[in-house]
Amino acid sequence: MIFGKHINKYYLKYLPILLFGVASLIMVDYVQLIIPSLYRMLINGINDGFVDLGGIQTEFNIDFLLTKICMPMIGIVFLMVIGRFLWRVCFFGTALRVEADMRLRMFAVCRTLSQRFYQENKVGNLMSLFTNDLDTINECFGSGILTFCDAIFLSVLAITDMAKMNVLLTVLSMIPMMLLLASGLIISKYITEKWKIRQEAYSSISDMAQESFSGIAVIKAFVKEGKELIAFRKLNKDNENANVAYARLSVTLTVCVTLFVESVTGIILGYGGYLVHKGVFSAGQLVEFIGYFGAIVWPVNAVSELIEIRARGKASLKRISDLLDEKPDVIDGCGVTDTPALSGAIKFNDLTFYYPSRSEPVLSHIDLDIKAGERVGIIGPTGSGKTTLVDLILRTYNVPKNSILLDGKDINDIPIHTVRENAAYVPQDNFLFSDTIENNIRFAFDSGDESEIEKAAKLSDVHDNISEFTNGYSTVLGECGTTVSGGQKQRISIARALMKNAPILILDDSVSAVDVGTEKIILENLKETREGKTTIFIAHRVTTVENMDKIVYLEDGKILGVGTHEELIESCKEYKRMVDLQRLDEKAEANS
Ligand code: ADP
Repeated sequence: MIFGKHINKYYLKYLPILLFGVASLIMVDYVQLIIPSLYRMLINGINDGFVDLGGIQTEFNIDFLLTKICMPMIGIVFLMVIGRFLWRVCFFGTALRVEADMRLRMFAVCRTLSQRFYQENKVGNLMSLFTNDLDTINECFGSGILTFCDAIFLSVLAITDMAKMNVLLTVLSMIPMMLLLASGLIISKYITEKWKIRQEAYSSISDMAQESFSGIAVIKAFVKEGKELIAFRKLNKDNENANVAYARLSVTLTVCVTLFVESVTGIILGYGGYLVHKGVFSAGQLVEFIGYFGAIVWPVNAVSELIEIRARGKASLKRISDLLDEKPDVIDGCGVTDTPALSGAIKFNDLTFYYPSRSEPVLSHIDLDIKAGERVGIIGPTGSGKTTLVDLILRTYNVPKNSILLDGKDINDIPIHTVRENAAYVPQDNFLFSDTIENNIRFAFDSGDESEIEKAAKLSDVHDNISEFTNGYSTVLGECGTTVSGGQKQRISIARALMKNAPILILDDSVSAVDVGTEKIILENLKETREGKTTIFIAHRVTTVENMDKIVYLEDGKILGVGTHEELIESCKEYKRMVDLQRLDEKAEANS
């Protein structure tokens, strides 16, 4: 059994079913403890020819055997089977429901967390929370409650029966049990610590496996399989050491159980045998006493397991609680009211932006006016802040007050979902889901007209490619879209964004993997279809943006020039230098 802020409520939520489980368990414990008295009657009956039934000497014959021993035994077995079935369903079924509830809550929290969280926490670590740690919580809940209740009820009932027979023998038998409990409690502290280390080691190894499989193409291209193997071997060794350290403690606990339980058996056989020899006990009574002790061996064993499960559960619950307590840092401010659809006018007002992890600003004093319906190109060297600038329009990070205005209103005063609903985005990595092409394209909608999907694919010039696939739009993309080429992936991402038909469309370096001819077609299509709607195009090639209404040249987080291509050639020497260099490159390429 385990308690904590995020788990206590489940005991209340499932109280009726848990109580029913406990009632079934008590019933099983109670009837199970009748069995040793049946042994006593059988042995004494065989030895003496009569049986003491509540002070009345009754003759032991076939009739007695059938009615007082066999029939009750059949009834006990029947009740035990029914009872065990019921408590299993109640405890283990509840544990599965708690696990599912927690998984859902964890996923719901993850969904709200901001970009920063995902930059700080690797996927492998998150995956181990959703698998290993949740499994442990399941175990704590199911086996934990069962063991806890069983240990209490069975022990109390059996010890009472034992004490009724002989107090001294019972006290002597309990001394090793107390020692077992004490050693278990001491060892459990270390087990919690070792389990935490083990889980962290497991997270690291799953992080690395996940990253290696995702980046397998890069690893192979750079012939770094050997390096990866060495790195993996180290993590694997750490994981093995953590597991061995944990197993050592776990085995120590098991050995303690065997030692103390067997000591008790020794005491009962020694002192109990002496009592029989002295005539204080009959042989049947000694067997009955051993039967009661036998009944508590399992709960005692289980207590050691409980100590271990609880220790592991505490470590896992702490990791899960840390996730559930995580707060998204990009949230709507107080009093933010819904805004009708945006027209697409964007104004940057002396925006200076720092990433939380950096002391230097990544964008400095950005002033820029984008009118609704304008086509704007953003260009500049790598690392100049282009992606950051568009990320801020999507409120991926918090922005200073009044530094970005949408339709003249501070972006902080517009609900985040409204901002994002009004924008379509083609990210640089063009992430696609492992789903059909059709579902990827209509991702913004729950359902989508087939003709609309096709139209979006035609505008992004990928319809012909999709039609060539055997399953057409129903083709299921492999993990991260690996079954399509880079250029096709880019164009499917563009189709997905176009399908949304939002007032603002942002394309981050989205035609870098397509040839110049295809780029031209896409740009032409975009011009036509986005008439009157704002389109922001981040690009590396001047040819991509030279016909835009406005080009913004960024360098080191500062805007060095804004204007049409011709205006910038005149007014911005950095832009001109970039144009000249790219023209030279093109010429050199053409000549070669
Ligand atoms: P561009 O799109 O022009 O290549 P970016 O906007 O991606 O540039 O990055 C601008 C600068 O900000 C770079 O120096 C980059 O390393 C840094 N940067 C980008 N993302 C983060 C982040 N999440 N945390 C800290 N620094 C970042």
